[in-house]
Amino acid sequence: MTTPARPANRHHKRPRGEGQWALGYREPLNKNEELKKNDDGLNVRQRIIDVYSKGGFDSIDPADLRGRMRWYGLYTQRKPGIDGGKTAVLEPEELDDRYFMLRVRIDGGRLTTEQLRVIAEISNLYGRGTADVTDRQNIQLHWIEIESVPDIWARLEAVGLSTTEACGDTPRVIIGCPLAGIDTDEVVDATPHIREIYDSFIGNPDFSNLPRKFKTSVSGCPAHCAVHEINDVSFVGVVDERGEQGFDLWVGGGLSTNPMLAKRLGVFVAPERVSEVYAGVIGIFRDYGYRRLRHRARLKFLVGDWGVEKFREVLEKEYLGYALPDGPAPEQPRGGRRDHVGVFPQKDGNFYVGFAPRVGRLDGDKLHLIADLAERHGSRRVHTTVEQKMVVLDVAPDQVDSLVAELEANDLQVNPSTFRRQTMACTGIEFCKLAIVDTKNTASTLIDELETRLPDFREPLTINVNGCPNSCARIQTADIGLKGQLVVNDAGEQVEGFQIHLGGSLGVNAGFGRKVRGLKTTAAELPDYVERVLRNFDKQKNEGETFTE
Ligand code: SF4
Repeated sequence: MTTPARPANRHHKRPRGEGQWALGYREPLNKNEELKKNDDGLNVRQRIIDVYSKGGFDSIDPADLRGRMRWYGLYTQRKPGIDGGKTAVLEPEELDDRYFMLRVRIDGGRLTTEQLRVIAEISNLYGRGTADVTDRQNIQLHWIEIESVPDIWARLEAVGLSTTEACGDTPRVIIGCPLAGIDTDEVVDATPHIREIYDSFIGNPDFSNLPRKFKTSVSGCPAHCAVHEINDVSFVGVVDERGEQGFDLWVGGGLSTNPMLAKRLGVFVAPERVSEVYAGVIGIFRDYGYRRLRHRARLKFLVGDWGVEKFREVLEKEYLGYALPDGPAPEQPRGGRRDHVGVFPQKDGNFYVGFAPRVGRLDGDKLHLIADLAERHGSRRVHTTVEQKMVVLDVAPDQVDSLVAELEANDLQVNPSTFRRQTMACTGIEFCKLAIVDTKNTASTLIDELETRLPDFREPLTINVNGCPNSCARIQTADIGLKGQLVVNDAGEQVEGFQIHLGGSLGVNAGFGRKVRGLKTTAAELPDYVERVLRNFDKQKNEGETFTE
């Protein structure tokens, strides 16, 4: 039997261009693309130094203010006193304060105590003492005035730090395990590869006009702390069947409003090829990424449409010029938690000490104190984690107890409750122009309440709090994810509250939490809600079952 010929589809339309450069769509199809075509974001640096820092806030060209400043980690912060109900209805300029958030990129989370002190000084001199550790290992300062930016850069650059491409449509900070090089069980030390990518691609005008942000993770952490599942490109440490160390390549992960988990291409990347493979993946994104619609411009949409086979083929044939060998999947993560909080041995006989600030919130004085404590106990390195935590490295065995006692005495907990340890919160309405609700204070109150109400709760449990539908605090991958929105309380008033997602996770059973239809709580009732969920779980759980399972 022959297959009947397909009838001609008279309604078949030529697919509408998605703004892919490689298919000839070089003319900008929206305002963001136009802005980038008019002038590379990297060029704003000289204008900040020569013009804006001298002329003040009002001298800033609006296209730079709301666009290109991001290429150097600068966002205007939210004007104080504007409630969440106005977020969507006001024009962006009505939400703009005259102050900036400044993001300092900390690739691989690697910081020396000298660098930490410089950030502390800048925080106290120019940022009203603000300093938040983010869930991408950066440190963010607030209340920055444009006049102080050149001096801030001079101070940062003198110690090898930078804000270049900390935001914008660029290769953002490279996530890495804070224990790279010292972890007793690590699969591969990714440190040199993070450096190599940083040196070759960050601030490189060939890659400074991407369709949107591009997130990278490079790690050989046995606990998979570098969240490879939700980055645009991830190199995950593996050992192949010959016993050679290398990386398994994942592409197309990302959260926000259309969350997708990254996919394995199934290739083995030898250490000496990391840089060229990175160039290939970021090149595909730059050339084939969708630029027409902002909300479709992340790499995950291209990977979703192409599938992994086509992606691999294009990478190998068009970008590398050779085929990559097949490779093994990473081993299942070892250890239940990825946050590196607590005291653990290093390869060299010293110890590392991970501690939990409260939802990543620190201040200039605390950063100085952390640097002091580390140095007094013989350490010169304090690294950041992707869970808004920090780790003091290289502590001699006889110094551990004293360091732990001093950190804890300053509310930097090394043995925190589950709630302190595993609650994260994004910036929220205090400074973020997209926010609808408060996050940091709400999460902090929640931690206090749960510690009082459930003092014996010890199981792993992640609670992630977002101030809007974006997912800076990764709500879809938390056991309890809280998405900020306005809700109606019992008195019929619109108040701050959260849509609840339950059961998300990364790792072996990676998957996104279910948005429970109609399940919302006001911020005021949040502690009651979480307490109820946990008490119910406790009653119904099977022997040995954790909430995460
Ligand atoms: Fe701002 Fe929303 Fe991101 Fe929170 S999740 S920092 S509110 S954009």
